[in-house]
Amino acid sequence: MSATAAPSSPHVMNTYGRLPIALSHGQGCRVWDTEGRAYLDGLGGIAVNTLGHNHPELVPALQEQIAKLIHSSNYYHVPGQEQLATKLTELSGLTNAFFCCTGLEANEAALKLARKFGHDKGIERPEIVVYEAAFHGRSIATLSATGNPKVQQGFGPLVEGFIRVPLNDIEALKKATEGNPNVVAVFFETIQGEGGIHPMRWEYLRQVRQLCDERDWLMMIDEVQCGMGRTGKWFAHQWAGIKPDVMPLAKGLGSGVPIGAVVAGPRAANLFAPGNHGTTFGGNPLAMRAGIETIRIMEEHKLLDNAANVGAHLKGALERELGGLPGVREIRGQGLMLGIELDRPCGVILNRACEAGLLLSVTADSVIRLVPPLILSVAEADEIVAILAPIVKTFLAEAAP
Ligand SMILES: *Cc1c(COP(=O)(O)O)cnc(C)c1O
Repeated sequence: MSATAAPSSPHVMNTYGRLPIALSHGQGCRVWDTEGRAYLDGLGGIAVNTLGHNHPELVPALQEQIAKLIHSSNYYHVPGQEQLATKLTELSGLTNAFFCCTGLEANEAALKLARKFGHDKGIERPEIVVYEAAFHGRSIATLSATGNPKVQQGFGPLVEGFIRVPLNDIEALKKATEGNPNVVAVFFETIQGEGGIHPMRWEYLRQVRQLCDERDWLMMIDEVQCGMGRTGKWFAHQWAGIKPDVMPLAKGLGSGVPIGAVVAGPRAANLFAPGNHGTTFGGNPLAMRAGIETIRIMEEHKLLDNAANVGAHLKGALERELGGLPGVREIRGQGLMLGIELDRPCGVILNRACEAGLLLSVTADSVIRLVPPLILSVAEADEIVAILAPIVKTFLAEAAP
């Protein structure tokens, strides 16, 4: 993701091109590195730190939970699971949740649900529709579902049973699945994150919902990045007024505590029986408390409204500063999930922003991505633009497309 990389520690595996700083602590939307330099956090740990850093209500709740019980086991009932599942079903209109620790795990559970759905119907070799430029994780199955050859390179053979289609093209979906009795599910992000902030159109979502109903397929929406209030609704697909059958969540759900969940509606909620699926760490009391408190604090402080309003303000300001400049292709996204697509690779902007005191990311080579904490204020949004706009302008002036 970054253009340059400081060498890793000799003992940490070399899986990331890292920036040459280490963060030490944070407060709200600011973080400080180990040298004492401050940064405005436009990345939120990649859409994870929903409540920013050191939130005055989250921290004491987690401290209390740690002193009580961090982990028990899924051998026993976990009251926090009951509580968080109830809340997630209330917010989504779905019926049941399974808890795990990461996004890819939530997606693995979704893929297993789809296959089980097929097998229960007598389909021996179920197939799942996935999308170009999708990102679903880095396990063998989820990297096979991912639509990025760079993620797959070197890890074949890939898992079979996926059919890939372009975004927002209902005719292409119909054509790719025509006469195929093995299709069991359609699986996609409402707004692709790693793929470069590509939204599905609301009309397309309604068309896919209808097709899934007609053909008895599961509609499975990966809301790992775009969910949990980031776009101004609890889940991004709710803008289209539809409900999926299966919805993986993770990133923002625990405000930084590792947590994943797959939430399912009536057609998928009862496919697993004891022994079909599980995880040691998933659903532990600390992670459940993090999820419960995150949602409680989001409701109390009206953070959906904040994401919508500050997001619209930020997008407007970016459009005024950068929209229409030669080299700026498009500014897109919703709420506090925004992308600025340039007409050329721009990984170096990540480094320059960091040097200027702003954390962000560059994804899909040429898309500057902003996914800050949902507590971002209008003043902080303005500060992001004040730092970022001159960097983008300088970059475009010096680098050939
Ligand atoms: C980040 C991401 C994942 C993978 O989540 P991990 O916690 O890194 O496994 C899956 N899907 C989407 C849409 C993501 O953004």
